Amino acid sequence: MIVFKPARPLSMHLTKEINSGKKAGFVPTMGALHEGHISLIRASVQLNDLTICSIFINPTQFNNNDDFQNYPVTIAQDIEKLEAAGCDILFLPPVQEIYRDGFKAKHYELGLIEQKMEGEHRPGHFQGVCQVVDRLLDIVHASQLFLGQKDFQQCIVIRKLLELTGRNETLEMVMMPTIRENDGLAMSSRNVRLNEKERVLSTAIFHALSHIKQGFATISPEALKQAAKIYLESKGFAPDYVEILSAKTLETPGNNNEQQVALIAATVGTTRLIDNMVLN
Ligand code: AMP
Repeated sequence: MIVFKPARPLSMHLTKEINSGKKAGFVPTMGALHEGHISLIRASVQLNDLTICSIFINPTQFNNNDDFQNYPVTIAQDIEKLEAAGCDILFLPPVQEIYRDGFKAKHYELGLIEQKMEGEHRPGHFQGVCQVVDRLLDIVHASQLFLGQKDFQQCIVIRKLLELTGRNETLEMVMMPTIRENDGLAMSSRNVRLNEKERVLSTAIFHALSHIKQGFATISPEALKQAAKIYLESKGFAPDYVEILSAKTLETPGNNNEQQVALIAATVGTTRLIDNMVLN
């Protein structure tokens, strides 16, 4: 695996490879890699001649400075995992390579999507996500972009970003399923922050989503959401939201034939977790 820190040599290398007929897949991450990330790498390796992973803890998408400062960093282990999975290139930029001198934040017209759920509870988060993804895609020329369903709303936002920037004409977004621990907890870099007791309680989110899925055909969405909130609170969680929305648009579903997704964000102790499940 080749590691690039500056952006220009990476772009030049990729242009050469792509001009010689190679197809490239890109997996952007913030590091502290786990099986969820690695599943994206494996998918890209299978479908492409070249796989590029980036590790960049993007300051502009954090609205909580403690969360940013304490974000786990495990570069040596990350490199081992990426090599074992067959990743070809790791892009590990310093902040100045992403946000160059004189950088002016663009505003992306994301519409209502950035005012709900993660957008509402983490103001500015999706603008930061768009800034970094837009910049990364300027540098990393790929034909497939691999994202995890774990961050469902982020996938919808990035799909919108690709449309807004016209990148959707040359870049395919591939959403890969959420990888879970054996007890159902969605893998996340932030899970290392859970203490032993919180780790046991943390399966409540997966159970709440599973209950919603079980009841989906017969019970009203309002009743399902209410029961999920009460259940989460009984397990020591402070829920930010429980939503049941159209999986395509993340708006209120028009009818039950539409594919729908349940989405939860909730905090246990000081750790905020998100998860979702497609219901039909
Ligand atoms: P992050 O490092 O948290 O920014 O995540 C990088 C990418 O990995 C994003 O597309 C995430 O949605 C994806 N990802 C994170 N956790 C999981 C998981 N448990 N299963 C599948 N994909 C994941």
